[in-house]
Amino acid sequence: MQWTPGGTSSDIEDRRGDSGGGGGFNLGGGGGFGIVGFIVVVVIGLISGRGFLGSILGGLGAGVGSGSGAPVQRESARNADGSIQESASEHRDVQLVSFVLDDAQKTWTAILPQQAGRNYRHAKLVLFRDATRSGCGNAQSSTGPFYCPADERVYIDLGFWDELRKLGGNTGDFAQAYVITHEIGHHVQNILGIEQRAQSAMRDPSQRSKTSVELELQADCYAGIWAHSTQRRNILQSGDIDQALQNAAAVGDDHIQKMQRGSVSPESFTHGSSAERQGWFKRGFTTGEVKQCDTFTAGADGYGG
Ligand SMILES: [Zn+2]
Repeated sequence: MQWTPGGTSSDIEDRRGDSGGGGGFNLGGGGGFGIVGFIVVVVIGLISGRGFLGSILGGLGAGVGSGSGAPVQRESARNADGSIQESASEHRDVQLVSFVLDDAQKTWTAILPQQAGRNYRHAKLVLFRDATRSGCGNAQSSTGPFYCPADERVYIDLGFWDELRKLGGNTGDFAQAYVITHEIGHHVQNILGIEQRAQSAMRDPSQRSKTSVELELQADCYAGIWAHSTQRRNILQSGDIDQALQNAAAVGDDHIQKMQRGSVSPESFTHGSSAERQGWFKRGFTTGEVKQCDTFTAGADGYGG
């Protein structure tokens, strides 16, 4: 992908120098990532009183909405002049995330009114380390990147790229762009009211896995729509799509389950298989059309049912 580092996006909220999430839980030793892929936080758990994503969000429980507790005291993450301490590669990652965020939001601002008759509004993207507070409860690095519909923010700890590499994922520029634009895809779902409908459907336990997969695959398809726009604007380079597809495979439920426990149980899928994720990304990329991303009626394989 052709891009030039152009500073930090005005839609980025940089909390990397902050002292963690506070809110009554403490991350000993800086946490560490779980192999969870990236998710949209489903707040159904708050409505029903049961944590649907309890296992993923783990230590979230007690801290949710309580707003109590002192901030976690940690070693300063800032230089003497107040700037955030970061490595050269992390500095570059921030520029890349900024470029992709701005480019994707510009793209959706143009195509959403045309294709869906709705205006796009910008999401914010929060950079954090270890833990931070979100409108969906306390966020931890172990959650992986996620989008919170309640505050319309994407949350990411850039340490996730190392985790992705361990999963066999790619951390090239376009590979990272896939992750960011997948999350922006959840924001588009929020604007279109799809997110809310899915949450209602997920009140029925028998629909949770299926609906979650449909929501996630649609976000992959929307990421593909952005990729389509990069091709039209001639900033896509050879090998870029392969990078995105490598990541779509790395975060497929079957792949993650195989790595975690050696076996696969499709009934507990939340994001779809590697093949499904690749398939829906490709569908968005090939067509560039929102209407082609109707995972809810098409079925996970894209062929109905
Ligand atoms: Zn997702």
